[in-house]
Amino acid sequence: MYSFPIEYVEPVFRPPSEAKSLILPVTNGCSWNKCTFCEMYTQPQKKFRARKPEDVRQDIDKAAKSLRGVKRVFLADGDAMVLPTRRLLEILGDLNAAFPELQRVSSYCLPRNLAKKTVEELKQLKEAGLKILYVGMESGDDEVLRRINKGETWDSTRSALLKIREAGLTSSVMVLNGLGGETLSRQHAINTATLCNETQPDYLSTLVVSFPQGEERFREGFGEDFIALSQQGLFEEIRIFLEHLELEKTVFRSDHASNYLVLKGTLGRDKQKLLDQVNLAITSPGAVPLRPEWQRGL
Ligand code: SF4
Repeated sequence: MYSFPIEYVEPVFRPPSEAKSLILPVTNGCSWNKCTFCEMYTQPQKKFRARKPEDVRQDIDKAAKSLRGVKRVFLADGDAMVLPTRRLLEILGDLNAAFPELQRVSSYCLPRNLAKKTVEELKQLKEAGLKILYVGMESGDDEVLRRINKGETWDSTRSALLKIREAGLTSSVMVLNGLGGETLSRQHAINTATLCNETQPDYLSTLVVSFPQGEERFREGFGEDFIALSQQGLFEEIRIFLEHLELEKTVFRSDHASNYLVLKGTLGRDKQKLLDQVNLAITSPGAVPLRPEWQRGL
């Protein structure tokens, strides 16, 4: 009987664009694991640890023996970039040796992961095959970031994204629509836009914030004044965000299953087109196809 060469500690997460990648766990869990809205790695088996080098090597060897034509590898779990550069270079070296057709390696990346890494080190990683870093910006507003306990600021995220850019790596940034609730919606939208403008990510996507453990639980961390945005409120926040974006060449997507309104385009080129779609969703809700509630995957 065939069994997949890697035994995963579930649950395992990856960005939608890594659907065809070999998922290689090099760490378990997330080294921060304190964001109030995130339940990804809260189960006991996902407690953070770096995996032993011999275990990772064994997985690579087993995968090389049983999988043909591996072109893409995603380094799991939540922030493989927490590993020292030397260790990441070893892993990339092993991957290149095992998979001759390898084209790209990617990973989630917390801004804090890059605080001690230099642009020179990131260039070495790029040379060794690392191509894309997925950064959960969530918000560019310091008050929102503080209330969700992200452990980052506008400045720390800016610094990490500029390093990624300077090293020539591709950045893919996620932001959370509705994260500031009604009270902080406007400043969340504007400061997130200014952070994106400052860092010019290659890819930018928006997801709608969800409350897997209930809104009340989220409010405990965020503050009692949190009022979740209505569907119209979410659209209005996206409108303010788009209005303030000054991007030169960023692929923009709000097509994650959590979104009611699917938007796709390249910014700045398609800014007005996207704004027209959002305006239509606000003024004539029936005129724009929206994802029904039951189809939304959170
Ligand atoms: S850094 Fe990312 S994975 Fe870690 S707790 Fe925060 S949102 Fe979750």
